[in-house]
Amino acid sequence: NHLKKYFPIKGGMVSHTVGHVKAVDGVTFNLKRGATMGLVGESGCGKSTTGRTILRLSGDKTDGQVLFNGQEVYDLSSKEMRALRPKMQIIFQDPFSSLSPRLPVGEIIGEAVREHKLVPKAEFNDYIDQVMDNCGLQPFHKDRYPHEFSGGQRQRICIARALALNPEFIVCDEPVSALDVSIQAQIINLLKELQEKYHLTYLFISHDLSVVEHISDHVGVMYLGNLVEYGETEDIFREPLHPYTKALFSAIPIPDPKAKMNRIVLEGSIPSPANPPAGCKFHTRCQYCMERCKSEVPVQKEVEPGHFVRCHLYDK
Ligand code: SF4
Ligand code: MG
Repeated sequence: NHLKKYFPIKGGMVSHTVGHVKAVDGVTFNLKRGATMGLVGESGCGKSTTGRTILRLSGDKTDGQVLFNGQEVYDLSSKEMRALRPKMQIIFQDPFSSLSPRLPVGEIIGEAVREHKLVPKAEFNDYIDQVMDNCGLQPFHKDRYPHEFSGGQRQRICIARALALNPEFIVCDEPVSALDVSIQAQIINLLKELQEKYHLTYLFISHDLSVVEHISDHVGVMYLGNLVEYGETEDIFREPLHPYTKALFSAIPIPDPKAKMNRIVLEGSIPSPANPPAGCKFHTRCQYCMERCKSEVPVQKEVEPGHFVRCHLYDK
């Protein structure tokens, strides 16, 4: 709810704060239990920071609220946060760097289970076997080390590690971007299976629009720390409304080469989030830019039921 996360920029002789990178600059959306929200946008737009800030993994927030089952997570004491942590998990892009090379996978998957005392000691081994099996891993491989597994299997290990904690909400930060296309589909299908089985909620961060279309119920589009559009996947893909979404989606390759492309090519590069344009942050690249866009910040409006846009074109 109006979530902001700014990072200070240090400068000058005595290294004081000379400005801020507004990585997340007033993001509002709802995510229902058991649903997936895809978060898209070019690199540097604030997708990962949004995910990490929601999970309270990035120090303090700058402003706004993060409500998890109605509870503001930033109001929790560190002890309460620790107790909640298993419920809110994250899976990263690079499965290798997030796995300890010195631990056998059974230990990697079970480490936090032990720490949080989630299952009785006597049941621990069976529990880990079960989790590995659920994630398409062979339980008899649990004494092997991460380097003995392929990229796809390593991502399964990361998923198993998160799943072992019996989570409700998982931020999937580019979970298939480092994998071969053939393996991507397997991991996406695994995530979908687990979601159905355990009623999981995902925030699925990706720059791959076709992957997002496949897995998400809702899609949010970010530009320079703002959520410029969000709504049901079908609506967003069928009729994107925000000029940035239109441009981003026009770059999706169409399978039929005879189909009309109508590709919108954006002029210029993304401005720096440390010094974003005034008014609408997209105005320097928008082909529909009006005079007021240069000074007036557009607010997020519900243009049709469940479809939100941040653009002056949709002011009544
Ligand atoms: Fe373009 Fe103006 Fe809409 Fe921004 S508010 S996207 S500049 S039309
Ligand atoms: Mg990222």
